[in-house]
Amino acid sequence: MKTVLITGASRGIGRNIAIGLKNKGYTVIANYNKSEKQALELKEQYNIDIYKCDVTNRDEVKSMIQYCLDKYEKIDVLVNNAGISQIKLFTEISDEDWNNMIKTNLTSVFLTSQEAVKNMIHNKNGCIINISSMWGEVGASCETHYSAAKSGLNGLTKAMAKELGLSNIRVNAIAPGVIDTDMNKVLSTETINELKQEIPLNKIGKTEDICKCVEWLIEDNYTTGQIISINGGMVI
Ligand code: NAP
Repeated sequence: MKTVLITGASRGIGRNIAIGLKNKGYTVIANYNKSEKQALELKEQYNIDIYKCDVTNRDEVKSMIQYCLDKYEKIDVLVNNAGISQIKLFTEISDEDWNNMIKTNLTSVFLTSQEAVKNMIHNKNGCIINISSMWGEVGASCETHYSAAKSGLNGLTKAMAKELGLSNIRVNAIAPGVIDTDMNKVLSTETINELKQEIPLNKIGKTEDICKCVEWLIEDNYTTGQIISINGGMVI
């Protein structure tokens, strides 16, 4: 059975992917950073292997990949899901805000993928799925640093797909629209209702909607370099 490492799997989309894949019989390693309590629940309730690591730190990432290889001998699938968001006017974004956003949403994917592909190249087999955002495609007002990081992630996805295809490694991204997780808890009910009106399917997405696409990408053979939009039609 395939071994899947998911970053940022303590909460939200990553957590749902971890539980969904575990229920389908995959071997899952769920990475977390700060949310230890939620991670321990994954271990106790779902028997999912967990690993604490800040994905912005090269040494910690190296140790996480080594842990997976020592225990499972291979990494078939890497889901780069860990991320943060922030709503701020462009003129008020500090250097620290900018660097933190790029480091967490983009550099982390560079680090984790670079460490994991060594094993995938050796095995001539691999699947990398990056969780991007519709804002990486069209840009969001008051989320310019987030949009820039996710656009960068889309570019990284396409370029890696071209370079790693010969090693039979598929690299794709999923670009979700508005999904019901902690990330959107900052939004008022009024804002959520306004957003729904902009969505042709007139509803907010669920974490399960993203998990289904991850499952499909894992089992697919011939899709690479794609940014798959799952947003209820908000971006067409
Ligand atoms: P969330 O509920 O806030 O969860 C974020 C996850 O990322 C947490 O598990 C958190 O782990 C982890 N994380 C953050 N920084 C980390 C770090 N330095 N190292 C390791 N893990 C870290 O967010 P979400 O909505 O599930 O978002 C997941 C992904 O989907 C993100 O990349 C986000 O940009 C993308 N996305 C979300 C939406 C949406 O509407 N929700 C839309 C488009 C794209 P700890 O709590 O353990 O630190």
